[in-house]
Amino acid sequence: MKIKEWIKTLTFYELLLGMKTTMSHLLRYKPITIQYPHEKKPLPENYRGMLALLKYDDETEKCVGCDLCEAACPSRVIRVVSAEVPGEPTKRYSKEYYMDMTRCLFCGLCVQACPVDALGMTREFEWAVYDKRNLHLNKQQLLAIGDRAFPVREKRIEFQHPNVAHFNVAFQSLPQKES
Ligand code: SF4
Ligand code: SF4
Repeated sequence: MKIKEWIKTLTFYELLLGMKTTMSHLLRYKPITIQYPHEKKPLPENYRGMLALLKYDDETEKCVGCDLCEAACPSRVIRVVSAEVPGEPTKRYSKEYYMDMTRCLFCGLCVQACPVDALGMTREFEWAVYDKRNLHLNKQQLLAIGDRAFPVREKRIEFQHPNVAHFNVAFQSLPQKES
């Protein structure tokens, strides 16, 4: 038994055994290094990236300034300043909308809280900046992200659900109610 151990020590048996495993992996697998940014890994389907504000297909903003996203956000990222729609006193919109993306956890709670699907999570992740003040986004910047990330837009809610819209007394040009 002792002679066997001596022979193993003298011939670097354990070392050769380890090298055999290393060499077998080296020859069997192709390199997996990705040459970012020229190559990119595919993102998972449910990837949660940069947030965006969305519009309907007629260019009107979806946000109704209800503040629910602000209330739902655990990191106090969002600040909404809402106001009445001029000439339509029962309707509101977000006059100003800010997101401090340095604080965002990308949890998606704001998206879930929004009653009109005005917020969306894009698949954008390349948002490294030298000055973190560039990550304090205003409404126009968030709408621009939404424009490029979600080119296909929904119809206004009044046109998606005409029977429900019949009760929306504030809407000026209601679609015909389905009989
Ligand atoms: S994703 Fe989460 S942390 Fe980020 S703004 Fe929405 S609720 Fe706040
Ligand atoms: S984004 Fe949605 S939840 Fe937030 S204020 Fe606008 S309508 Fe309300």
